[in-house]
Amino acid sequence: MTKEIVDVLVIGAGPSGCVSASYLHNNNVKVKVVEKTKFPRLVVGESLIPRVMDHFYEAGLFPALDAMNFEKKLGARFIRGEEICVFDFSDKFSEGWDWTWQVPRADFDNTLAQEVIRKGIDLEFESEVLAVEFNGSDSITTVKDKDGNMKEIHAKFIIDSSGYGRVLPRLLDLDTPSKLDPHSSIFTHVKDINRPEGEEGTLISFDILETEVWLWVIPFSNGNTSLGVVGPTDFINSLSTNKDNAEALKNAIQLSDYYIKRFGGVEFLFEPVKLENYSRSVKKMYGDGFSLTGNSSEFLDPVFSSGVAFATESGMLSAKLVHRQLQGEKIDWEVEFTQYMRSGIGVFTTYVKEWYTGNLQTLFFHRPENPEVKRKICAVLAGYVWDQENPFVKKHDNVIKNMAHLINLEKEQKIENPS
Ligand code: FAD
Repeated sequence: MTKEIVDVLVIGAGPSGCVSASYLHNNNVKVKVVEKTKFPRLVVGESLIPRVMDHFYEAGLFPALDAMNFEKKLGARFIRGEEICVFDFSDKFSEGWDWTWQVPRADFDNTLAQEVIRKGIDLEFESEVLAVEFNGSDSITTVKDKDGNMKEIHAKFIIDSSGYGRVLPRLLDLDTPSKLDPHSSIFTHVKDINRPEGEEGTLISFDILETEVWLWVIPFSNGNTSLGVVGPTDFINSLSTNKDNAEALKNAIQLSDYYIKRFGGVEFLFEPVKLENYSRSVKKMYGDGFSLTGNSSEFLDPVFSSGVAFATESGMLSAKLVHRQLQGEKIDWEVEFTQYMRSGIGVFTTYVKEWYTGNLQTLFFHRPENPEVKRKICAVLAGYVWDQENPFVKKHDNVIKNMAHLINLEKEQKIENPS
């Protein structure tokens, strides 16, 4: 068996792995990335939020992505029947990027990976991690390449960015059930032959079909659009009687008054993919000699497009902490990694829960709009969930619930006393 020695082994070349590998390489750390598949590969997660731009910029990956002319995402639109709520990232409470992209992930992730390789990082495709053995913080990882050859990679630290592969959570028994209710999704891409001219054609939208069920519409700059339906697993399963994903997605599109004309008759570019009970969590996010980033640690829900942002946030933070640790500094991973990540995840967890209770929808569609409330929520939706100056971050536990309660009371009073 061949043997390689590196400082840091990154498992998985998704956005999380590419950001950490790039940061470490830029700081002269010997890093290797092993990736199970051959890119480009299909993966879901096409609507980004502005916070990711900070990470791609800092990792030195922004120019390569920018050159790809992906569709710019300036905000997001939520639709409920005739009601519309549009967030504009340039009008938000917190400082930060006011745009990002909506991307076909196969191309996007391939661009990231090719840029990582161009920088001189050793990224090996079609190489799967099979086993990891720890001796203190040092580790020996067994990897199988596409020809079946095995090798050992000796590393001082492992960043596990293996997404749903969840390499270390599986091997070290770190999986734990998510606190969120079981939801599932079916998605595909279509050639958007009925795409309207102008903003309407390219605007990313979330159409609420029922309080807990929504359709995503993510137009790409290549003329294709991603369509997906999300809802409680029982509901998603009920969309087709014979487990036919294409039939299920077609039935969901029929429920959308807004999009039925545009997408009712279009052909799917690939057999729709079902992702069942997609939320994930872990008992701990780090250990002696490793950290878990991106979907390998926690995944909440697609509704606010926070997945890639958490993947790059945790990837970037891990890389910074490992770099300092390799220079001899003692790192308090509990405080600097877990507590930091959990505070951001906690904010989004509340927003996801309050979306599905309907409380957040009550705020979104309340008229007249309160511009100050909207700017604060917009900052959260842009991913700036560590800004304690924002009361919609700091008091996330009850601010949405309380405001929705007041709005509902006001509505009840109007019904009782119409004058
Ligand atoms: P990934 O991008 O999944 O990359 C992990 C890589 O690790 C893969 O390439 C895999 O092949 C590799 N790997 C796995 N096992 C091994 C192994 N044993 N050895 C070597 N390599 C391995 N997020 C958003 O930001 N916006 C959205 O709109 C959005 N929509 C979503 C919709 C649904 C229905 C779901 C379920 C998720 C959605 N997400 C979204 C979440 C998003 O898909 C993930 O959060 C994001 O892709 C995580 O990135 P990552 O780098 O952690 O993992």
